[in-house]
Amino acid sequence: MQYTHEHLEIQKTLRRFIDEEINPHVDEWEEAEIFPAHQVFKKLGNLGLLGLNKPEAFGGGGLDYSYAMAMAEALGHVSCGGVPMAIGVQTDMCTPALARFGSDALRREFLAPAIAGDMVGCIGVSEPGAGSDVAGLKSHARKDGDDYLISGQKMWITNSLQADWMCMLVNTSDGPVHRNKSLVMVPMDSPGIEKAKKIRKIGMNSSDTGLIYFDNVRVPQRNRIGHEGAGFMMQMLQFQEERLFGAANMIKGLEYCVDSTIEYCKERKTFGSALIDNQVIHFRLAELQTEIECLRALVYQATEQYTKGQDVTRLASMAKLKAGRLGREVSDSCLQYWGGMGFMWDNPVARAYRDVRLVSIGGGADEIMLGIICKLMGILPGKKK
Ligand SMILES: Cc1cc2nc3c(=O)[nH]c(=O)nc-3n(C[C@H](O)[C@H](O)[C@H](O)COP(=O)(O)OP(=O)(O)OC[C@H]3O[C@@H](n4cnc5c(N)ncnc54)[C@H](O)[C@@H]3O)c2cc1C
Repeated sequence: MQYTHEHLEIQKTLRRFIDEEINPHVDEWEEAEIFPAHQVFKKLGNLGLLGLNKPEAFGGGGLDYSYAMAMAEALGHVSCGGVPMAIGVQTDMCTPALARFGSDALRREFLAPAIAGDMVGCIGVSEPGAGSDVAGLKSHARKDGDDYLISGQKMWITNSLQADWMCMLVNTSDGPVHRNKSLVMVPMDSPGIEKAKKIRKIGMNSSDTGLIYFDNVRVPQRNRIGHEGAGFMMQMLQFQEERLFGAANMIKGLEYCVDSTIEYCKERKTFGSALIDNQVIHFRLAELQTEIECLRALVYQATEQYTKGQDVTRLASMAKLKAGRLGREVSDSCLQYWGGMGFMWDNPVARAYRDVRLVSIGGGADEIMLGIICKLMGILPGKKK
């Protein structure tokens, strides 16, 4: 995959926006443990950056998927992980199924305002008792006339304290667990929704994460995306874009860790010479940079195939796995060379160390990625009866 002039121009526009509208405020937002999503998304929407690959009929750019990845990569220029993650939720996590399978009426009501930056969305899959085991989620929707009455809980939901709507995966029947779920668009101001708790975290602090309760929340059945019972399958497809976003978004931030560590190690002297002159250090940094290039190659390969309409479950799972593991390795190694300075809360490498830890857990933990890869390699043992 090669970025064209258009890809690079979009990245330039986004980087300028990040320099002017995001990075100057990151420290304040990290401290507040929330950022003003409506304000930031409206400005991104005005620049056409919230729907690059979404249909033009709903305000999107109508571009191919490689542009979404160019954006995900450029978002790595943000000086924290929380804000890019929140933007990625809007562009690549809670809207792909809506854009692909939603009715025109649903897309007018929820997708168009999300692309314009007038509404903030969130994706509600995980529950207190079901994260990795998506099929085991317990929230349920009971039919009442033309409506659903939804009850249950959603946990760790990014953007949810500010969101105008949730794309919610919920059991809509009692059938087999992979065929009894639907994705339903739920307005977050519906009676019966309680934003029960803002969850405190060790990283990704600019991003709000909520525990949400649903008590007989009435939603029209027409808010369901596609056929009843197709939600699990749609969410699995939607996860491909979430995982590729997560992997692409890591590249620049990790390069920043390496680059800033090189600069620090050139300045910092021990025993009469610069830290960087120790072979153990410059070799390690070269090794990490090599690994980052491998991640980039994997992401680009997956992007190229996905743009051509191919199934990239294997490559997207590998990219997500690699991004999570490498994120931990790069941030931990770089922090080490900053010494005591690396242990300071406000050090950018320390922030990366805290933020990237999520990548091995959220959106499918490393072990879940390994399970998918093993299944596709044909080496996952079958379940014994
Ligand atoms: C900051 C943050 C933001 C999030 N945002 C969202 C969001 O917006 N929407 C949403 O729906 N969810 C969100 N999540 C939830 C996230 O996707 C889940 O936490 C994740 O899928 C793991 O689920 P769990 O926490 O229930 O872990 P569990 O399923 O309890 O698993 C715990 C650990 O056990 C291991 N494990 C699990 N299963 C296996 C297995 N079969 N074999 C081997 N090891 C295994 C893994 O190491 C895993 O980390 C977010 C989480 C966090 C922390």
